[in-house]
Amino acid sequence: MIPPGQTIGILGGGELGRMLAHAAERIGYRVHVFEPAAGSPAAEVAAREFNAPFTQVDALSTFVKGCAVVTYEFENVPVEPLWSIEKIGQLHPHWNVLEICQNRMREKTWLRKNGFPHVPFTEVEAGDDLHAGIRRMGTPCIVKTADFGSEGKGQMKVTDAVTAEHAVAAFAKQRAVVEKYVDFKCELSVIVARTEAGDLRAFPVAENIHTKGVLDFSIAPARISDVVRVEAENLAKAIAAKLNVVGLLAVEMFLTDRGEILVNELAPRPHDSGHYTIDACVTSQFEQHVRAICGLPLGDVSLSSPVAMVNILGEAWKWREGQVAAPPNWAAVLEAPRAKLHLYGKAEPKIGRKMGHFTVCADDANRALDNARELKAKLSGRS
Ligand code: AMP
Repeated sequence: MIPPGQTIGILGGGELGRMLAHAAERIGYRVHVFEPAAGSPAAEVAAREFNAPFTQVDALSTFVKGCAVVTYEFENVPVEPLWSIEKIGQLHPHWNVLEICQNRMREKTWLRKNGFPHVPFTEVEAGDDLHAGIRRMGTPCIVKTADFGSEGKGQMKVTDAVTAEHAVAAFAKQRAVVEKYVDFKCELSVIVARTEAGDLRAFPVAENIHTKGVLDFSIAPARISDVVRVEAENLAKAIAAKLNVVGLLAVEMFLTDRGEILVNELAPRPHDSGHYTIDACVTSQFEQHVRAICGLPLGDVSLSSPVAMVNILGEAWKWREGQVAAPPNWAAVLEAPRAKLHLYGKAEPKIGRKMGHFTVCADDANRALDNARELKAKLSGRS
């Protein structure tokens, strides 16, 4: 067990690292952040910031030696420099979990090999014929880059010959997966925590609404049957156990009209769809990650209230000719009953950039979602 008072190192300085640092510091840990660029959202709240490329092994080693345990808050940390950490410190989750989850081809192949339900797909190596891959899968399908793709980035829907040509041009010389397009009933995610001793605890299933491939709203509890809920939780736990994750694993899933659950993506870290846990669960996903990687007992994951979470992107600002004309109407959220605003300290809003989120608790999930939609419109001055 790594007791409070010790230092936790976070690779990556984004908002997930910032909220992780908040949770760690609250229970008495010191936090160091390693992030190539200075002044990141996480570094702002950490005791120490290290700025160097992730590939600079000397800087990474110095960082690791100053920490009792190291974790990562985003998936595109290169894996090779992490091999050396193993000899000088502890990394949770292990780099081989990151290696699987940071590449769609490896992730999907792993799911298939281990018999977990997933979206049917075919692999297309760099330089191979993408047309052939699209023909194998049939249309509609989605072409996704194998490396460094996330949240709708690096993907294209193919419905006919014209969109197939667009995809072939866009994905030339890239490794890709071609996935069957799933006409899902809803999207779900389960965030599960696992300790080194194998204890597992799943947060309540979240129901997620994406806009242009990016998470817009998360609702908990998800509006699904008990049978689906238990199946989704058990599936996430089984995947975390098979991967030997120590820390959090977020499992994104599609629920089809036939009641089938298909895994879409895995992320071995805190996840946007778990932000609701800060305001609506006994233990937040961030605290749970800290508990799991430090070998503390896992916390109670009970939901204290139905809740909806809204991601705040740069689009919430008023823009005129590419320049910010006015900030969002923060007062709309701040004065709303049972709403909580979280901003990530990012100085410059950009279209598509995650700037913060807010949550709204209510007596039931539908009411929480209605209130969240209303507040979202007020925030950007659209109501
Ligand atoms: P991803 O980057 O894979 O998480 O995809 C972002 C979003 O795009 C998902 O949350 C879905 O809303 C949508 N999406 C991704 N893959 C598929 C698929 N195979 N069929 C239908 N929608 C998809």
